[in-house]
Amino acid sequence: MRITKIFLWIIALGVMLLAKNSPFAFYALNGEQEGHTLLVIGGIHGDEPGGYFAPAILAQYYTIKKGNVLIVPNLNPDSIMTFKRGIYKDMNRKFAHISQKDPDFDNVTRIKEIIKDSKVDFIVNLHDGRGFYRQEWENSIFNPKAWGQTYVIDQKTLDDVPFGDLDNITQQIETKLNQSLHYDFHTFGVRNTQTRFNDEEQQNSLTFFAITNLKPAIAIETSKNIKELDLKTFYQLSSIEALMDIMGIEYERSFEMNLKEVDKKVKEYGKLSINDNMALELENIQSILNFVPLKKEENRFIFTHPLGRIHQGKNGYEVFIGHKRIALLKPDYFSMECDIQDMNISLDKRAFEAVRFGTIVEAKEQFLVEGREGVRVNVIGYAKKGVISEDNMQIKMDWIDGNYSLDKDKMVFRLEVYKDNNFCGMINIKKGN
Ligand SMILES: [Zn+2]
Repeated sequence: MRITKIFLWIIALGVMLLAKNSPFAFYALNGEQEGHTLLVIGGIHGDEPGGYFAPAILAQYYTIKKGNVLIVPNLNPDSIMTFKRGIYKDMNRKFAHISQKDPDFDNVTRIKEIIKDSKVDFIVNLHDGRGFYRQEWENSIFNPKAWGQTYVIDQKTLDDVPFGDLDNITQQIETKLNQSLHYDFHTFGVRNTQTRFNDEEQQNSLTFFAITNLKPAIAIETSKNIKELDLKTFYQLSSIEALMDIMGIEYERSFEMNLKEVDKKVKEYGKLSINDNMALELENIQSILNFVPLKKEENRFIFTHPLGRIHQGKNGYEVFIGHKRIALLKPDYFSMECDIQDMNISLDKRAFEAVRFGTIVEAKEQFLVEGREGVRVNVIGYAKKGVISEDNMQIKMDWIDGNYSLDKDKMVFRLEVYKDNNFCGMINIKKGN
């Protein structure tokens, strides 16, 4: 009994020592015209989604014309996926000292190097803080100790450094943002922590590390008390835009800056490609997909969304965008030694075209897959007695059982191709109107 306990304790310790945060993503948006460089860091705290969806949208939908914007949308990936502040404790307290054995060591060390890069002129660290900041105490939610809706500076100025007037810069952003609030009580304020003199704990933070390396840095905090993710993201993006204006960074974005459009962007999950032979549109995906052909090991998952992650759990492969678990893929394991990359398909009785695995095609009424020696075609949700391979036959879209669709609207279906015992690939057939 006792020996078992010690043994388990050693295993637990081993797991702790071996734990390591996943690496973060890095995007560099470089303008054609030279200019200043802003570094945007999101997701240092995993339970602050305003702080990571905003940079994810920035990375995907903005084009920089003048200057540069560097983006780390998910500094703390494992904590984001579990929606915890820090599963390896608070990462924002590890910038003065960190042990090499710390699971966050690699990420903290790498972001420190990026912060110190001579090209970087200004750094923002994005958060969702508690409550609503007010200069005077009103109650437990609105008070001077709240972090929500603030621009946090460690000191008023950083002398002799371009953009070192942190107080003035944050006041400009504050003034701009307070003109377009969705509710009056969402007022932004500037909170000066006077870190060097007053706040020993804050001396371990990312922004203070930047300051001590003569890099202007601020934190942007929306409020945890604002429940609408689109609204927090809107405030974060608007603040970043105000800062880019101050820095002379010119940009274009592919959407109108209003709550409705930001809401759409927050919900655009993009595409997941798996093993180069299948792809899933994630926006409206069924929450559980059964018998997904995967390899036993070394599957390659590639997301278009910066916050896309796979977690291999007990029941299968969980698909995450940020902290949101959007689907569970229940695997059906296959080897994939197959030299075919496409199939010839006739859509709505038109001429055959070669369709690559991992793409979507549309058929209004029907489709036909050209047969191939030794290859088996399986349309999931369709079966005909005595037919082994569903090729060389017109299949009407209406014949496919909607319960087997990839999407919640029952519009997109799986066409799977096998050779002997190998899975070759999947084509998605969408019902057109
Ligand atoms: Zn935070």
